[in-house]
Amino acid sequence: MKYDEALAKYEPVLGIETHIELGTASKMFCGCPTGFGAEPNTQVCPVCLGLPGALPVTNHAAIEGIIKIGLALNCEIVEWCRFARKNYFYPDMPKNFQISQYDEPLCVNGFLEVEAEGETYRIEIERVHMEEDTGKSLHVGGATGRIQGADHSLVDYNRAGIPLVEIVTKPIPATGEKAPLVARAYATELRELVRSLGVSDVRMEEGSMRCDVNVSLMPRGAAEWGTRTETKNVNSLRSVERAVRSEIERQAGVLSGGGRIVQETRHFHEDTGRTTSGRSKEEAQDYRYFPEPDLVPMAPSREWVAELKASLPELPAARRRRVQAEWALSDLELRDVVNAGAVELIEATVAAGADAGAARKWWMNELSRRATEQGVELDALPITPEQVARIQAMVAAGELNDKLARQVFEGVLAGEGAPDEVVAARGLKVVSDEGELSSIIDRVIADNAAVADKVRSGKVAAAGALVGAVMKATRGQADAGRARELILEKLGAS
Ligand SMILES: [Zn+2]
Repeated sequence: MKYDEALAKYEPVLGIETHIELGTASKMFCGCPTGFGAEPNTQVCPVCLGLPGALPVTNHAAIEGIIKIGLALNCEIVEWCRFARKNYFYPDMPKNFQISQYDEPLCVNGFLEVEAEGETYRIEIERVHMEEDTGKSLHVGGATGRIQGADHSLVDYNRAGIPLVEIVTKPIPATGEKAPLVARAYATELRELVRSLGVSDVRMEEGSMRCDVNVSLMPRGAAEWGTRTETKNVNSLRSVERAVRSEIERQAGVLSGGGRIVQETRHFHEDTGRTTSGRSKEEAQDYRYFPEPDLVPMAPSREWVAELKASLPELPAARRRRVQAEWALSDLELRDVVNAGAVELIEATVAAGADAGAARKWWMNELSRRATEQGVELDALPITPEQVARIQAMVAAGELNDKLARQVFEGVLAGEGAPDEVVAARGLKVVSDEGELSSIIDRVIADNAAVADKVRSGKVAAAGALVGAVMKATRGQADAGRARELILEKLGAS
């Protein structure tokens, strides 16, 4: 069913579960390293392989990380809680159970405010709990990389046991047609928040942040929520938005045709933008949760929690309010800067000496355009805020005009070196030598005698053509304003 039609008939209710791998040096319950991309099965030991007799020990830095996340999400940090065993059998889980938390999560009852198209939504957080990641299965020989049609499968346990934080929202009602945007805004804000805490690199493309998106529909005006589906491991912000949208369209089609929604997990396909059926959803009792007998309970002292709270950095929402005031941005300008991922880059450029207006201009115009052309994020461009500030300093000193500055940007991005090296190698300085400029102007006047006569006879506007000729002769490196002054002076028209 078409999206607009679906929204006219049904009201969506969302729920989002997000898994975030913490960037600790070692795993959750053993000393194995956690680096991404190592040779398969080289970062493993008896504990994370679940060998008999191996005993887990809780990673202090991971607990510190999750408490920071909980505090930043306005959660209550409980005084006492336990880990639980979640029993299920899966090839990428060497112990055949996952150490997680069940009815005693560490952080509860928080919220995160997000903005979608100028409206603020308060997303209630039900819980934030600590668990360990699973390994990875690799299905070889099939066309799709899925298990169907594969010749054989391989498992890599390097990821097994990496600290994983799960953040679960309460149901998010009343977002209407903005549901896909609200879901995306939440994932975006959460990623920014966790990144600002420095506890994870939150890279969705590497799987260190993964979203499961729950969607249900109820007829408009109904009191009871519909059956929900859970779309697993959506791995980009754009996909979060698309997955919600496509699931609303699909469910509306099923419901309006008299069908019923099956409670199940679904997979999102990047190529088609659609979800397909996964497995029917397990109930909690299928996991036979029980308190983990090999670990002591967690009882973070109030002093420690207060210390961690005091250590939190400025959070993204507060930072946005501050830079909006400092840089005198309208709401729309701020939104553009945020959406472009330019807040930190502009801040760093200002810190390196540029004024805020110029820093914003370069990042939002010239550099955003080039990032779009190359299909990369702004912060992936091979130029640093310090280099942008250096180029702007040369503009401010009159050594470069904007046109030349753009050539310096081009050179730096092309790997030709630092701004000063590009200026030297390409010979890009503004012609500021008066004698040189004067002799170029004399030549231009001689070559354009008819135009020069017009200026002499009082048609000052005609001088523009001579300024253009000077700029052409200097390959854009003259100061156009100064050239104009000298021309008028020489022609007695000043
Ligand atoms: Zn290990």
